[in-house]
Amino acid sequence: MPSLYKIANPNTVKLEELILVEDDERPDDPMLENEVNRNLVQRSWSLGPEQASIDPSANEQYWQDLAATWNVTEAEARRRLCANCEYFDNTPEAQEMMELVPLDEYDMDGGGRGICAKFDFICHSLRVCQAWEKKPFYKSHHDDD
Ligand code: SF4
Repeated sequence: MPSLYKIANPNTVKLEELILVEDDERPDDPMLENEVNRNLVQRSWSLGPEQASIDPSANEQYWQDLAATWNVTEAEARRRLCANCEYFDNTPEAQEMMELVPLDEYDMDGGGRGICAKFDFICHSLRVCQAWEKKPFYKSHHDDD
């Protein structure tokens, strides 16, 4: 069965093209596929924090490590979230696709789902990974109405 993201976006690059995954590790079930891909992004790209929070002092070690990786301040690192990553797809169409995958513990504190178009799994607004790229914004609050 095609993965969750592949169903919604048939022309995108799949996870196994970016991270080496043995064929026999790849499940057919969207729920398992999501879990396998998420584990890979946690392991290889520091997806986190595991317990997401809007508290600006939470998960200090996680954000300090990521800041060091990116060579930015901790404050700057904390402003980079899946929510504002260019790979985060939280459109209504994506929300519908993600309904195929039942909620799990990552949904409880994640701040809302989006499909990660880079790594092909369900990520969350309040998390991030090392592959973050700034999402273009088409209508700035500085623009006139
Ligand atoms: S690539 Fe972007 S959307 Fe995907 S997990 Fe990383 S930060 Fe989140």
